[in-house]
Amino acid sequence: MATTAEPQSANTQEGANQPTAATGWGTDAPDQPLRPMNFERRALRPDDVAIKITFAGICHSDLHTCRNDWGGSRYPVIPGHEIVGTVTAVGSEVTRHAVGDTVAVGCMVDSCMECDQCLAGWEVFCRKGCVQTYNSADYHDGTISKGGYTDHIVVRDHFVLKVPAGMDASRTAPLLCAGITTYSPLRQYNVGEGTKVAVIGLGGLGHMGVKLAAAMGAHVTMITTTPSKGEDARKLGAHDVIISTDAEAMKAAATRFDFILNTVPVSHEIDPYLQLLGRSGRMVIVGALTPMPGFTGFNLIWWNRAVGGSAIGGIPETQEMLDFCATRGIYPDCEMIRMDEVNEAYERLLRNDVRYRFVIDGATIGGPE
Ligand SMILES: [Zn+2]
Ligand SMILES: [Zn+2]
Repeated sequence: MATTAEPQSANTQEGANQPTAATGWGTDAPDQPLRPMNFERRALRPDDVAIKITFAGICHSDLHTCRNDWGGSRYPVIPGHEIVGTVTAVGSEVTRHAVGDTVAVGCMVDSCMECDQCLAGWEVFCRKGCVQTYNSADYHDGTISKGGYTDHIVVRDHFVLKVPAGMDASRTAPLLCAGITTYSPLRQYNVGEGTKVAVIGLGGLGHMGVKLAAAMGAHVTMITTTPSKGEDARKLGAHDVIISTDAEAMKAAATRFDFILNTVPVSHEIDPYLQLLGRSGRMVIVGALTPMPGFTGFNLIWWNRAVGGSAIGGIPETQEMLDFCATRGIYPDCEMIRMDEVNEAYERLLRNDVRYRFVIDGATIGGPE
């Protein structure tokens, strides 16, 4: 049968506007490994874009959703929200994308596009609730979204990003989550030439934070518990390193920073880091979703400091981030794997045994030829 994995000129083509057979990898229950699964992608709506997936990044959120660590997982879960691919068909009203374009999809695939947040380009905070790329109910038919560990995907045109010409598609996928999650707070708080930035933690988020802040012109310091990670951070562009267990070094760094990007993924004390912020300095937490221990009010009041959080940015900012990375040649450090290595990759993520980011080669996902 015709599938959107095959190039089609438009949905006016005979048979093109039908649901399509799709293949992906997902899990049936929290304690089950991922396995190949067959399902259907919807027929194209007038504003839909069909994309053959060429690369899919693996995010920690994928693993947590598969295992229902945050609750609310709806099985089968087919994860993946760092997607790069090629447009194979477009709906009748689509003008921004054309067959053959290299495009990307991040953490969202729909929102109301009418509320104050959507109109301001912050679709992620849509009042109606944005539809996430997987494990989220479609507004129109109620089906549960299925993500990037699949041979193809159908996404509303507004939520399809353009991969700039000349960009290395094989290294672009993790920008759609780890990239925008770190780019967004750096931009919101005007990090740039002369800003003194500290990045806490060197994982998937932290390594992008170092690269992006340095590219924006900031002076970047990596704060880590692990001396070897300090050396890695310097190779990624950090100008300085502080080992957080070195009490003298931490004391010497008091009030030194304008901005701290906190990427630590687990609950932790923030008091020792707050003291590193200078006047009106700000710490933004992007990693830990869990309850955090208390902090000392004095450490905020004295020196007028602030603590905040930041989620993924909106669609306009995500496009801006891709364009920024394309012109400066900024990519995540990725390890390319085959689709059938995903369970092993999850085990390695849990052991923290990965150099920042895994990307699945879409050609190994399977599906209709
Ligand atoms: Zn993610
Ligand atoms: Zn909205």
